[in-house]
Amino acid sequence: MAVYDHDILVIGAGLAGMRAAIAAQQAGANVAMISKVHPVRSHSNAAQGGVNGPGIGEDGGPWEEHAYETIKASDYLGDQDAIEILAQEGGGEVLQMEHWGVVFSRRADGRMATRRFGGMGKARTFFVGAITGQAMLHVLYEQLMKPGIFNAMRNYEEWFVTSLIVDDGYCRGCVAMNIRTGELHAITAKATIIATGGLGRVYEPSTNALICTGDGISLGYRAGAAIMDMEMVQIHPTTLQGSGVLITEGARGEGAYLLNKDGERFMEKYAPNMMELASRDVVSRAEQTEIDEGRGVDGSVYLDMRHLGEKLIKERLEEIYEIARDLVNIDIVNELLPIRPGVHYIMGGVKTDFNGLCSLPGLYSAGEAACVSVHGANRVGANSLLDTIVFGRRAAEHAVETVCTKTFRPIPESVVEEDRKMIRSVIDRPTNGDRIAKIRRDMGETMSVNVGMFRSPDKLNEQLGVLKDLRARYDKVGVEDKGKVFNTDLLFHIELGYMLDCAEMITKSAIERKESRGAHTRLDFPNRDDENWLKHIALTRQPDGSEKMSYIPVTITKWEPQERKY
Ligand SMILES: Cc1cc2nc3c(=O)[nH]c(=O)nc-3n(C[C@H](O)[C@H](O)[C@H](O)COP(=O)(O)OP(=O)(O)OC[C@H]3O[C@@H](n4cnc5c(N)ncnc54)[C@H](O)[C@@H]3O)c2cc1C
Repeated sequence: MAVYDHDILVIGAGLAGMRAAIAAQQAGANVAMISKVHPVRSHSNAAQGGVNGPGIGEDGGPWEEHAYETIKASDYLGDQDAIEILAQEGGGEVLQMEHWGVVFSRRADGRMATRRFGGMGKARTFFVGAITGQAMLHVLYEQLMKPGIFNAMRNYEEWFVTSLIVDDGYCRGCVAMNIRTGELHAITAKATIIATGGLGRVYEPSTNALICTGDGISLGYRAGAAIMDMEMVQIHPTTLQGSGVLITEGARGEGAYLLNKDGERFMEKYAPNMMELASRDVVSRAEQTEIDEGRGVDGSVYLDMRHLGEKLIKERLEEIYEIARDLVNIDIVNELLPIRPGVHYIMGGVKTDFNGLCSLPGLYSAGEAACVSVHGANRVGANSLLDTIVFGRRAAEHAVETVCTKTFRPIPESVVEEDRKMIRSVIDRPTNGDRIAKIRRDMGETMSVNVGMFRSPDKLNEQLGVLKDLRARYDKVGVEDKGKVFNTDLLFHIELGYMLDCAEMITKSAIERKESRGAHTRLDFPNRDDENWLKHIALTRQPDGSEKMSYIPVTITKWEPQERKY
């Protein structure tokens, strides 16, 4: 075992992590980046539809328009100072990505093409077909591979973080396992940036990859950082029934319709102005209402892309054409595609200020793991990629500026002992017939039923009980693989612990918020209640292991809350 020491440690190598690592390296710091999967397998790879480009020429539009649309979509829970920064700095970041080599789709005249996303008044989303995340991720990795950067940086690839190191109330890095050897090491730093992505797999089904297990949110919580807005789980309007695979909003952005079983464009009833491109929470609720009231087909409604024509579909939505053909044997050029709402994104996460700084000194966060908060109660499509690159960079720049000249006492090797004991106890535990995969599925399915789109106090409280039972099963379940090399059985075990933490935080926060706002719909409190609930809910683990719930005011700069109409 060894202690590795750096100025800046970035945990996560998705878009937020890689953007942070590049910025920290450019600012002259000794940087390390750690990822449980190869960087280009990070989940950002899956992002399809695009990235908003506020302020980029006529198409991006004035930054104020994007800021207002983001605030309105957030149901006024987003912090407006952070949203202003997102909108003001976002366009520059997107152009930076283009200059680094992202091949954005073009119009005939050579300018970057745009499409319209839900909740946006105009087409201001830039895209690379339906593989925008993949294109951006690969370009950032190319930048990192440049000799000047790569040689100077330590890349802990396929290392898995098991805890954060907190010394005298300051985050000093992490304990991590080299997955190839099974050995634990301390990786210390003057500042640590959590960029570990989302937690979609706390629910089943989900649009997220199996690796989206909320690790960083739980790690931050266990270390004592405040976790905010956890009740705000985004349910995307268009996922394939059964598998939950995402059908990008870009399809509706290109003009696709939503139809019920009678062939009606039902969004006319729910959002007569913006129709299919109302904000995601509004469209998802409308679909579920159609389904619940008997106007769906096998728990789905239809996405109709037939009128878009084969040329447009194959040029701009090729991946959706392939997904439909390969997974459900449907030709979207000629047939209707059955879709349903599905869990997609967490608006909450590790609470940060607009420089990415968390409530625990020395700790920063960016990307989906963080809650800056620019998404509030409902994220606008194509704003997550923007969030990763704007706040990934900002967090790194602030961290370098603030901590690099400081000196800290060394961290002893013994800091890994607690995690070593935890792992030993899991390995030594006899198998008891229960399985990690079974507990994980039970958690995901019950979360979908009890803490899904429409929430009631009975179901929410029932879920707290379910989670308690799942935790008891978790504490007893063993692993079948007792080895050290690539022990994915053990990693799944640790990930399940992270997911249970997140599931509990989501459920408790959903019980607490007694109103309906954005993605959080309470059947017993159907209206938004600005008088009592225009505030964030934060959870913080205390040093004695107890939990403190607190409220944090929403920052309003110039857009006073109004009734949302689409
Ligand atoms: C199917 C799909 C399509 C989407 N399309 C869009 C879109 O078009 N536009 C948009 O704006 N948003 C989109 N989103 C959302 C967006 O893709 C994500 O929110 C964003 O990419 C998250 O990036 P990130 O850098 O925060 O995390 P990720 O890309 O998820 O990266 C997380 C990193 O953390 C590492 N990590 C996690 N836990 C550990 C651990 N314990 N130890 C070590 N490393 C760890 C992982 O290895 C990974 O490198 C989409 C989401 C999905 C699911």
